[in-house]
This record gives sequence, C-alpha cells and structure tokens, in this order.
Amino acid sequence: MFGRIRFMKIDVERQKEIQQAEELLFAGPQALGFAKGLFQGHFVADWVLPYPRIPAAQQTELDHSLAELREFLDEKLDPAAIDRQAEIPRDVIDGLGRVGVLGMTAPAEYGGRGFTQMANCKVLEEIGRRCASTSVFVNAHHSIGIRALLLFGTHEQKQKWLPKLVNGEQLGAFALTEREAGSDAANLQMMARPTEDGSHFVLNGEKRYITNAAIAHVLTVMARTPVPGSNKTAITAFLVTPDMPGFEILEACMPKMGIRGTATGRFALRDVKVPKENILGPMGKGLKVALTVLDFGRTTFGACCTGAAKTCLRLATEHANTRKQFNKTLGEFHLVKKKIARIAADAYAMEAMTTITASLIDRGLEDYMVETAILKVFTTERLWEAINDAFQIYGGSAYFVDLPVERMLRDARINQIGEGSNEVLTSFIALVGMRGPGMEFKEIYDTMLKPSRAGIGKAWTAGMHRLGAAVRIPDIPVASAELGSFANQLGRLIWRFNLAVNRALIAYREPILDMQLVQERIAGAAMDLFASTCVLSRWDAELQLARRNGDSRPSTNGAADLFLRQSFRRIRGFLAGLKNNDDKELIATANSVLGKENSTG
Ligand SMILES: Cc1cc2nc3c(=O)[nH]c(=O)nc-3n(C[C@H](O)[C@H](O)[C@H](O)COP(=O)(O)OP(=O)(O)OC[C@H]3O[C@@H](n4cnc5c(N)ncnc54)[C@H](O)[C@@H]3O)c2cc1C
Repeated sequence: MFGRIRFMKIDVERQKEIQQAEELLFAGPQALGFAKGLFQGHFVADWVLPYPRIPAAQQTELDHSLAELREFLDEKLDPAAIDRQAEIPRDVIDGLGRVGVLGMTAPAEYGGRGFTQMANCKVLEEIGRRCASTSVFVNAHHSIGIRALLLFGTHEQKQKWLPKLVNGEQLGAFALTEREAGSDAANLQMMARPTEDGSHFVLNGEKRYITNAAIAHVLTVMARTPVPGSNKTAITAFLVTPDMPGFEILEACMPKMGIRGTATGRFALRDVKVPKENILGPMGKGLKVALTVLDFGRTTFGACCTGAAKTCLRLATEHANTRKQFNKTLGEFHLVKKKIARIAADAYAMEAMTTITASLIDRGLEDYMVETAILKVFTTERLWEAINDAFQIYGGSAYFVDLPVERMLRDARINQIGEGSNEVLTSFIALVGMRGPGMEFKEIYDTMLKPSRAGIGKAWTAGMHRLGAAVRIPDIPVASAELGSFANQLGRLIWRFNLAVNRALIAYREPILDMQLVQERIAGAAMDLFASTCVLSRWDAELQLARRNGDSRPSTNGAADLFLRQSFRRIRGFLAGLKNNDDKELIATANSVLGKENSTG
C-alpha cells in the first residue's frame, strides 16, 4: 500500500515534469533533425552532407575580420597577465568592440556585422585558441547576454538597446542561476509581480555566479511572474539595468580557480521596478527563452573548446619534438605518440561538429537542442582530456606558472559544469532522443491494452515505423568512394543503435526516465554517432575539393581515420555495456556509502 502511494506521488510529479518538458521542447510539428533521426534509426543526410561551407562572399568578409582580430589579439591580448590580474583590461574590451567581436551576429541595421553562426564560431575559435577568460567574457556578452534581445526582442527594443551593446560601449550579461536554481534552472525563485496599473513589474530576489554581473549595463534576468487567473507562476525574461533603484551588487568579482579574468558576481534585486516594455519574448515563456539562448552559448562553447584543443596540440607537439629523455625526443615514445594522435583526432572532430551544429542554426532547423547538447558535452570532455594529455607530456614543467598549461587546465574545468552540467545534458540527450521511438511504442502498447479503431490505425503506423527502422540499414551517401567502408560501418552502427534503443525502451519502459547509467550509454553512443558523421562529412568534403583541384596526393587523413576507428570502437563499447555491466553493484555500493541502503533506485 505504502509503495503504491509513493508510486502514485512519483507519477504525479513525473506527469508534471513531462508536461513542462513537452511545453518547452516540442512546440509543434517540426522537420526531423539529425540527432533525433539517429534515435529512430534514420540518417537524415540533408542536415550533414555535404559538409557546410561559408559562401564565398561571406568567407572574404570573415577572412578580413579574422585578420583584423588576429592583429589586434597579437598586439593587445596577454592571457597570462589577464589571469594574474584577474581582469580583462578595458582597452582589450574596447578593441574587441572595435573589431566587431561583441556584435558579430547582430544585424547590420543595429550596428552588428550580421555574421552567421558558422562564421561567428570561427571568430570564437580564434579567441578560444588564445585566452579562455576572453572567450568566456565574449560568450557571456554576445552568445548569451544579448542573445535573448537578438532572438526575441521587438524592433523597438533592439533599436533602443543593441547599438551600444554591439560596439562594446555597453556590456551584457545573462542571469539565470540562483542558490536553488543551478542545474535545476526551472526552480528559480526571483519574483516579478505586476504593479496595480500593470505598467511595471517589481522584481525581488538574488542571482549568483553571473559572468559580467558587475560590469554589465544591460542584464537579461529570468524571474517568476504570476499566471493570470491561477495561483501558479511561470518564468519570464526581463531586461534589467544596474541604474534601476534597488539593484545591488553583492559581490562584483568572486575569487576563483580559472577563467580568472572574467568577473563572476552576485547581485540582488530589491523592489526593482522594471517597465513592462523590458519583457523579452512572451510572458511566462522565459524558460524556453533561456534554453534557446543557451543553445547558442553551447555552440560557441564548442568553437572555443576547438580553439583551445588546437593550442594543446601545438604545445604538446612543440614539447614532444624538443624535450629529450633517454637520448630520445619525447615524441619518439609510443605512449606520448598516443596522446598526440588522440588530441589531433579529437581536435579535427571538434571543429567538424562545431561547424555542422552551427550550420543547423544558420539553415533554419527549428529544433537543434540535442545537437547543441551533444556538442557541449563532447567538446568539453575532449578538451579536458586534451589538456590533461598535454599537461602530462610537459611533465613537471607544466606545473609552473611560466608556462600556459596550468592556466589552461584551471580555465577548462568550468566547461563541464557551466551552461548545463555534462551529467544533466547527457541525461537530456538520451531522454529527448528516445522520446520519438518511445511515443511510438506507447501508441502500440496502449492500443494492445485498449483497442480502438483510431488507436489501431495509429499503432499500425507506429509499428511500421519501428519495424522499418529495425530491418533497414541506413545508407550514408558520401561522395568519395574511398570512404565507403567507413560509411558502411557507420550505417550498421546506426542500425544497431536503433535496435538497442528499442530494446531498452521495451525492457525498461517508464523507469528508464530515472536510469541514468543506461541513459549515459545511449547518449554516449549518440554523441559518437554524431561526431563520426561530422568527421566523415568533413573528410568527404576535403577529398572532393582535392579532386576538383586536380590534387592527386593520396587520400589519407590520419586524424580523421583514427577518430572514426576510435569512435566506432567506443560506440560498440557503449552498446555492449547495455547488456554487460555492473550497474546493480555500482548502485548498491553507492547506496551503502551514501547511507541509502533501503533505496530502490
Ligand atoms: C565561473 C562561472 C560562471 C558562470 N556564469 C554564469 C552566467 O553568466 N549566468 C548564469 O546564469 N549562470 C552562470 N554560472 C552558473 C552555472 O551555469 C552553474 O554553476 C551550473 O548550471 C551548475 O549549477 P550549480 O553550480 O548550482 O551546480 P548543481 O546544480 O548543484 O550541480 C552540481 C553537480 O551535481 C550533478 N548534478 C546535478 N543535477 C544532476 C542530475 N539531474 N543528474 C545527474 N547529476 C546531476 C552534476 O555533476 C553537477 O555538476 C556560472 C558558473 C560559474 C562557476
């Protein structure tokens, strides 16, 4: 009986969660994206092949901007000094504004450069290559700080706020996190109550860990607003400025381990009156606004990590080629080669994944949440390994502050936590991905329990979809015949992945929502399938370009080849782990350590 009541309570909470997620994520019928397609056993080739290219005219503009940026960064950016002094100097910020970095994707009519997300990612890669503090600062301002204004602002709002924000005269910040709302962003407590005449909202509450909080002139702040006619509340996005009475900086620059040049702060809003004209997007849809903003942040995150991984590769190679021990350079030892090859393979994949994910946004795919989550998790985990490997190759010297490696290590650690911790996103990738096939199984199952004419029709369609995916190995239409074997292997792995997803859904049904170890393997396989696809697409494009240019050199690409082999092996490992694992023992051990012996989960 007790168990039944507990189950019913969980069920009600679960229904609430599902309802919230449905509202957030699935606004209506949309084209099938690439990652969601993988979970259904499809290879939605149009989104990933051929490898996207920036149009020639835009490429010229990008090349010009990159040249200008590099010249400025060479002259002015000193990452070691920024770390030591825990501040990005004002002249660096002004210079970034001058070369257009602070408004790269803003439309030209508001003073921006009007760059696509793909072009913007190339700019962020260049900054990420040099200084993580600066790339996080730019991301906080441009990728997320002014993003809600760019995406959801009215023309009047954009006209009023954007011109000064895109040239760096003013800075932006994005304020979601609170004490009780970290990973659980929907639990934020800051309240915004309408005044009696409805002209303003009065905001109360505190935010913490906000990049640029104390240096921003305009903050996108998420707060709870009452839902008219009910006692519920929903989240709404507001533009808040620090000159509003009641805005109080509690701590301007919280001392921290890495990205020390960024100003991470806490602030309070005490009876701050914000005009209703400062609402961004629809009332009560702030969570959707926030998640869309974070999609953009996660894409440029991928670009910054790619840049940093390339720096790791350069540093590791330089050292391995010059440092001698046992009368040999370090690069002659196989265990050092292993690290260098892995960094090279991963950096190649990170760039390909960033480019393709950014292109999905540019090409107007409506729902790219799974791809941006994959990009964020994959690139941040790979960068962490790359820095760790480079650190190891440098040995004791890496530990000292005269070399950049220890700073890079400190700087990179936040990546796995910020903008959605990798655990939360891993779970998200698996659950959102499995939703499509899960709904089809539900249709079939419900009809078996309660047959009806309409139900049988829908169940038949669902059954045919599931059956079709189960018997058909997807075709991977690469243009280069020499990649045929990799393409075939990828197709077979997608087919096997789909079977594994089906099997997990049938075996575990709704409890899979809480089975994070299963989710981790499913998400891991999906991430590597996406990564392999991006690598294959990029390599295919390189071969085609070489062919068009009459280049007769052999078609080898060590990094791409190695990545695909390692990625395929990882995918097989994830799928095998679904059947052969120690999950029960792992959970039991953790429960015993945590003092939760009676827990069923
Ligand atoms: C330097 C820095 C800059 C930041 N800048 C900003 C900013 O500009 N704007 C902003 O709004 N926020 C910002 N943040 C906040 C950041 O986004 C949060 O720190 C992050 O979302 C995690 O929240 P939390 O720190 O409260 O960790 P918690 O939510 O307490 O989570 C701690 C850990 O618990 C685990 N965990 C949590 N939930 C789950 C789950 N469901 N399943 C499995 N494991 C789980 C994860 O391992 C996670 O890392 C910043 C943070 C830092 C450190």
